[in-house]
Amino acid sequence: MTDFSSLGINPHLLQAISALGFQSPTEVQQKAIPVLLQNQTDIVVLAQTGTGKTAAFGLPMLQQIDMGSKATQGLIIAPTRELCIQISKELTKYATSIKGLNIVPVYGGASIQDQAKKIKKGAQVLVATPGRMQDMIRRKYVNISSIGFCVLDEADEMLNMGFKEDITNILSYTPNEKQTWLFSATMPKEVARIAKEFMHKPIEITIGTKNAASTNINHEYYLVAGRERYNALKRLSDTQPDIYSIVFCRTKRDTQRVAEKLIEDGYSAGALHGDLSQNQRDMVMKAFRAKQIRTLVATDVAARGIDVDNISHVIHYQLPDEIETYTHRSGRTGRASSMGTSMIILTKGELGKIRTLERIINAKISAQQIPDVQAILSNQLSHFAEKIKATKVDADIQPYLAEANNVFDGFSKEELVTKLMSLEFNRLHAYYQKQSSNISKVESDKKPSKKSVDARYTINIGSRDDYNWKHLKSFLVDFLSLQTDDVYHVDVMENHAYFNTAIDKKQHVLAAFDGLTLDDRSIHVRLTEKRGQHLQKGDGFSKNKNRKSDGYNKRRKDDSFFGGKKKSKKTKTKSRKKKGFKS
Ligand code: ADP
Ligand code: MG
Repeated sequence: MTDFSSLGINPHLLQAISALGFQSPTEVQQKAIPVLLQNQTDIVVLAQTGTGKTAAFGLPMLQQIDMGSKATQGLIIAPTRELCIQISKELTKYATSIKGLNIVPVYGGASIQDQAKKIKKGAQVLVATPGRMQDMIRRKYVNISSIGFCVLDEADEMLNMGFKEDITNILSYTPNEKQTWLFSATMPKEVARIAKEFMHKPIEITIGTKNAASTNINHEYYLVAGRERYNALKRLSDTQPDIYSIVFCRTKRDTQRVAEKLIEDGYSAGALHGDLSQNQRDMVMKAFRAKQIRTLVATDVAARGIDVDNISHVIHYQLPDEIETYTHRSGRTGRASSMGTSMIILTKGELGKIRTLERIINAKISAQQIPDVQAILSNQLSHFAEKIKATKVDADIQPYLAEANNVFDGFSKEELVTKLMSLEFNRLHAYYQKQSSNISKVESDKKPSKKSVDARYTINIGSRDDYNWKHLKSFLVDFLSLQTDDVYHVDVMENHAYFNTAIDKKQHVLAAFDGLTLDDRSIHVRLTEKRGQHLQKGDGFSKNKNRKSDGYNKRRKDDSFFGGKKKSKKTKTKSRKKKGFKS
């Protein structure tokens, strides 16, 4: 068995990591540490979340810090404040036996003066978020002109979050002869580009398949009708009495709404999204870490950098737009050596995405059925029984038992078990009875539903208006107050586009666009032939440049893509949608 000492780690660090309980190096550590200790090289390391990347760069860096100098020698850039804090805590633990080695985290939302003071005392290693780091550079609180090591941690996340320019800027203050070490869970094009731009002949180490998800994760999908997403979520949570989960939604609005409904329905849930203050976010995270909140409903952006071990389930309330995001989401579970489950709540229209996902994560995503009430009850009751079995008996209870023994005098074991179990059963049974209307709906999803007929439309908005299908879909969903799944088969041509809805939405769609003028032009929506029959046709729309309005550009810029807040038209659909969620 490989151990850390055979990788070349020195005794000071060995002592600290064995105190941390690291027995043997993980695969990424085995591959990266010797390379980084023996070579002066740039490196690109691709490995899943939870595989131990922090030590893979942290140990070789700390070992090579010149302790005779107080100058900043290592810079680690990470996407979020949470990660920054976490990495610097972890490195500080590794460095416990190295006297005078200072590691300072540099992140926004905390006093810049305090951070500057710590750096002034001599910080050989900085762990920084891009924004605050630039601030520090501008104010000349840091000097990174002679660093020997620069780590870009979670490079894919940083690029996702739009930090490319910030990173470029920060790197321009670093010397050319440093080593650059890039760590990432996935390798989207942008990461490859950054490696090419900023690195010199990097050695590449890939653990597992590129972009592959961790093998500790079971991937499952659950097919439901779009309006049954919420009930499906509850069912999935109910089946797992010990669930400790993150539920991912696509928009802040959905995140807030789902969390509120869960709380209303008696779950210990909390929301995490960008509309909350830093303080609120900290509170939610604290409660989640302490497991007072067992279900964290989060947007992708807000969940970046969340690093909580032992998450049992990641539930995709909606699939993300970007495939890479899926890997990140599911990487929150199955960390270190524990198993996790990633559950996708899926509608029929999205079924095609499963194959693509499977190919990219190189793992099977198995089709599962939303558990029925019997399954849930049986799971909950056996969990209850196990809990009773595992209950520790405190000797202090003895004096109080005589009374109880009197009460149960003459009861057989069977009778006692029945009574005991009924205590839990009655509560659960009543709960599910109350929800029976929803339950029958979910169950009906299992039968192949009658193929619903759809309506296909053309609209005179196209790629030359800077729309791609995603933007247009978001715009339509938002403008029409529909659910994401209600609008599908969006195909964008240069001057116009096509989309589908169910036939029962036809009146609503046509009425919503009737006579509509946005940004000096009339928007026409009309019915057209089925998909596939339109491809050679021209658009046939004329523009009306003379009429005036303000909505078009504004909506497009402000909120179409981000699931905006403003609604220009209230529609019947909205109240119908609400009703579907009542329990
Ligand atoms: P990544 O950056 O790849 O997502 P981390 O570096 O955050 O992963 O490590 C994930 C968890 O595994 C942390 O709790 C860390 O302390 C632990 N860990 C890292 N290396 C080892 C090891 N060799 N043995 C045991 N636990 C480890
Ligand atoms: Mg990491």
